Amino acid sequence: MPCTSSEELKQIMMKAKEYTKFGKVADYIPALHKADPDELSVAISYPDGNCLSAGDVKMKISLQSISKVLALALALMDQGEDHVFSKVGYEPTGDPFNSIVKLEISKPSKPLNPMINAGALAVTHMIKGESVQERFNRLLDFIRKLAGNPAISYCEDVAASEHETAHLNRALCYFMKQHGIINEDVERFIYLYTKQCAIEMNCLDLARIGLVFAFDGAEPLTKEQIIPVSVARICKTFMVTCGMYNASGEFAVRVGIPAKSCVSGGIMGAVPNRFGIGIFGAALDNKGNSIAGVKILEMLSKQYDLSMF
Ligand code: GLU
Repeated sequence: MPCTSSEELKQIMMKAKEYTKFGKVADYIPALHKADPDELSVAISYPDGNCLSAGDVKMKISLQSISKVLALALALMDQGEDHVFSKVGYEPTGDPFNSIVKLEISKPSKPLNPMINAGALAVTHMIKGESVQERFNRLLDFIRKLAGNPAISYCEDVAASEHETAHLNRALCYFMKQHGIINEDVERFIYLYTKQCAIEMNCLDLARIGLVFAFDGAEPLTKEQIIPVSVARICKTFMVTCGMYNASGEFAVRVGIPAKSCVSGGIMGAVPNRFGIGIFGAALDNKGNSIAGVKILEMLSKQYDLSMF
């Protein structure tokens, strides 16, 4: 079993922490810019209920793009594979996560994959519910269940801050509305998406969700199948092919585990049939991934032979 003590994990974390000075905290959502670039925490959640951690694990972060994987799981459970993939594609893109360019040049005009913003917006649009509030509550309940933590909620400041500045996401939605991918009121929908991105948790919760994905959608202790195996498999595949922005290829070579990162500095990892990992480190590298978080994963993968390839 990799990392038998929190002390061992702390040593790895301290080595990785040296890299935070080379990173930069995201600033395009003003509320995220308040984060301390030196902050770093990591947790590993094992199937027997054990958990190792290092750093300030009580520190909460907003899920941002990590929520894309969770919304995808729920939309697939709500609508089925055929419907979801009639609105969003399967292929990685070399463009930035919020780019509009491929939407315009692809024919038919549908987002390339569910991990870029256009695709994530299309996916959240497909979550079932009578109202925006009901759809948000269903997603939140689903995430609470995955983490086994009914106290998980969202950060109003982050949601409001992103809502004020989400003009690119609005533009993507209006474009997709024109092309029949989204057919609801964009302003109301942006409330739902920004609240989704503002759902917050600590790295222990993140590691527990990673664990459920690592075990094909089942909670290993209770054996409850929270996500169907086929849905968990699809989510993990997207984590491998596009979970780490435009560094997903390099990450697959150097680390080799399904993972999803986000602009607030979180990374959720799922080591198949072994354990879940949650990391928070706000300083990002030039591809938008937590610079120290990626280092932790590289070290763990090398030391404990975690690559699935
Ligand atoms: N809420 C962010 C956005 O939609 C998520 C970006 C990210 O974490 O990659 O712009």
